[in-house]
Amino acid sequence: MSKCRFCDKKAVVYLRYANLRLCKDHFVEFVEKRVKRTIEKYKLIRRGDKVLVAVSGGKDSVVLLDILRRLSEVYDFYIHGLTIDLGIHSYSPVYVEVARENYKRLGVEHTIIKVGEVYGFTVDDLAVRWRRVCSLCGTIKRYIINRFALENGFNSVATGHNLEDLLYQGLSSIISGDLEGLAKVSPKLDGRGRLITRIRPLAETREKDILLYAIFKNLKFVKMECPYARGARSLRLKHVLNLLEEESPSSKFAFSNSLYKKLSLMASSFVSKEKEKPRSCSICGMPSRGTVCSFCKIALKVNPNYKPNNLKLPL
Ligand code: SF4
Ligand code: ZN
Ligand code: ZN
Repeated sequence: MSKCRFCDKKAVVYLRYANLRLCKDHFVEFVEKRVKRTIEKYKLIRRGDKVLVAVSGGKDSVVLLDILRRLSEVYDFYIHGLTIDLGIHSYSPVYVEVARENYKRLGVEHTIIKVGEVYGFTVDDLAVRWRRVCSLCGTIKRYIINRFALENGFNSVATGHNLEDLLYQGLSSIISGDLEGLAKVSPKLDGRGRLITRIRPLAETREKDILLYAIFKNLKFVKMECPYARGARSLRLKHVLNLLEEESPSSKFAFSNSLYKKLSLMASSFVSKEKEKPRSCSICGMPSRGTVCSFCKIALKVNPNYKPNNLKLPL
């Protein structure tokens, strides 16, 4: 391969969508600048903010933590890591350890919540009752992350959703006519009431670039898959997006621009405000569509002694 566009070193990456050949160092800089640009463009973080970073140990969240750690010094905001031990045999111990190592290496304050200890059930317990647990597991993670952020005074929660994750969400919402889902395909979901703002600083960064960044920087991340993962549909749709990219290298970015700037905004103006307005769960007090929130419903089914313990950090 020829030389890097910005220095005399050998180029190790060719980015077709930007027509750039880059050495390792300039590629790392390129990815960091892209994330910084997304943060600025969508006003994701302000000076003095308290940002909770959800770290699952996968490449996306580890790269997010790495970049936000550096940017927190430049922009003067505080970050705190949160990892949820879901109690998945053979998988949770591995990713919790990886997350811990990353927090230690970067010197980031963090909390690890064991669902089993706090709420008396695990995702393994759910898998005994239900064949597919991913959507239940998603509910549990969103609930705990939001509740922790709320009870400990965070301004926002940062997650590692990358460009393809959001394009996939957008495409599948369009295919199924799910306007509510489409309204959520954005780098920033503003909070309201007891729902904390969610931000996705990697929303304009390709999955492949995130992986290369992690490899070039020697970051430790989990490579094994969760035993309950069933990603067939998402893999198929991501394949469709890759075919589009082969035809036209910048097509993913063109699609993300129209999703983030037009389609999701149009969809949110159609979603009934009444439907959007969350009530409070009669058991835990957190936002809920019905009298009891989805988390409490799940918890009560698997643990009759369930108590909605709070997650406030001891001072
Ligand atoms: Fe949870 Fe499914 Fe992800 Fe496993 S693959 S961590 S069960 S959402
Ligand atoms: Zn270079
Ligand atoms: Zn509840």
